[in-house]
Amino acid sequence: MSRTVYLNGDWHAEADAKVSVFDRGFLFADAIYEVTAVIDGKLIDYPGHAARLKRSLTALDIPMPVDDDQLLALHKEIARRNGITEGLIYLQVSRGSQDRDFVFPSDLKPTLVMFTQAKRVLDNPKWKTGLSLETVAEGRWSQRQIKTVQLLYSSLMKTEAARRGFDDVLFVEDGHITEASSANFHIITRDGTLVTRDLSNVLLHGITRGSILDLAQRAGLKVEERAFTVDEARSAAEAFLTSATSFVMPVVSLDGLPINGGAVGPHSQRLLELYISERLQTGDPIAET
Ligand code: PMP
Repeated sequence: MSRTVYLNGDWHAEADAKVSVFDRGFLFADAIYEVTAVIDGKLIDYPGHAARLKRSLTALDIPMPVDDDQLLALHKEIARRNGITEGLIYLQVSRGSQDRDFVFPSDLKPTLVMFTQAKRVLDNPKWKTGLSLETVAEGRWSQRQIKTVQLLYSSLMKTEAARRGFDDVLFVEDGHITEASSANFHIITRDGTLVTRDLSNVLLHGITRGSILDLAQRAGLKVEERAFTVDEARSAAEAFLTSATSFVMPVVSLDGLPINGGAVGPHSQRLLELYISERLQTGDPIAET
């Protein structure tokens, strides 16, 4: 079934939504994006995603093409038009089009694209089995706090790892883990402390990461934000990833060596359950009121 896609103020059947070949998103990866999950007909952690969208645009000096109210209304309308009650909403803003030139003027008109993907978010079968990760050298640019569409290195590394039988990669820089290809990485130490990389330009400031840290603290877990090594992760009691579409995803092995004996750990399980039950209550309904 054809989706309805949003492009620069208009709604199109997906086959008719066309962006210029001169768009800087296409030629230079000069674009940023956001992904917001929908479960039970509700937008999940929307305010965090909208705020990070603004931070990414500001960092690249791309003007925000719509205002806050319009942005929220568009998220709800695209979900309604596509009948999405569970899945995700993808949004991308590029700097706009010009004849190919490394130097860009300051007055380009940004391109705003949105589409939906219907998919099961709840009852993810991987929540029960957990993921196997492989460590690889960090190779992305240094401004990883900006959510740009420069995803080639991550995509290549994840594809190669998949061919070797791993679910995802963990990037390692100067002996310390930054994050996974499209998720933040966390460990629970043997004394029950949640340790996660502190925020800086070396990793994306995950919206789910922030929500889970807040939830963990309220649930009585000690939280430490600092760099940690691959060895520390290997000897952790538990490990998990966080992202907008996988929520809390247990990690049960690193480079083929089991974590928590290769089973999903109790803290990961509990944080996932708490997150889902809270978000089912606090998510922003897409239905017109
Ligand atoms: N790190 C990277 C590199 C990502 O691509 C993502 C998800 N897009 C995340 C972390 C998780 O961020 P969020 O919780 O906001 O989805």
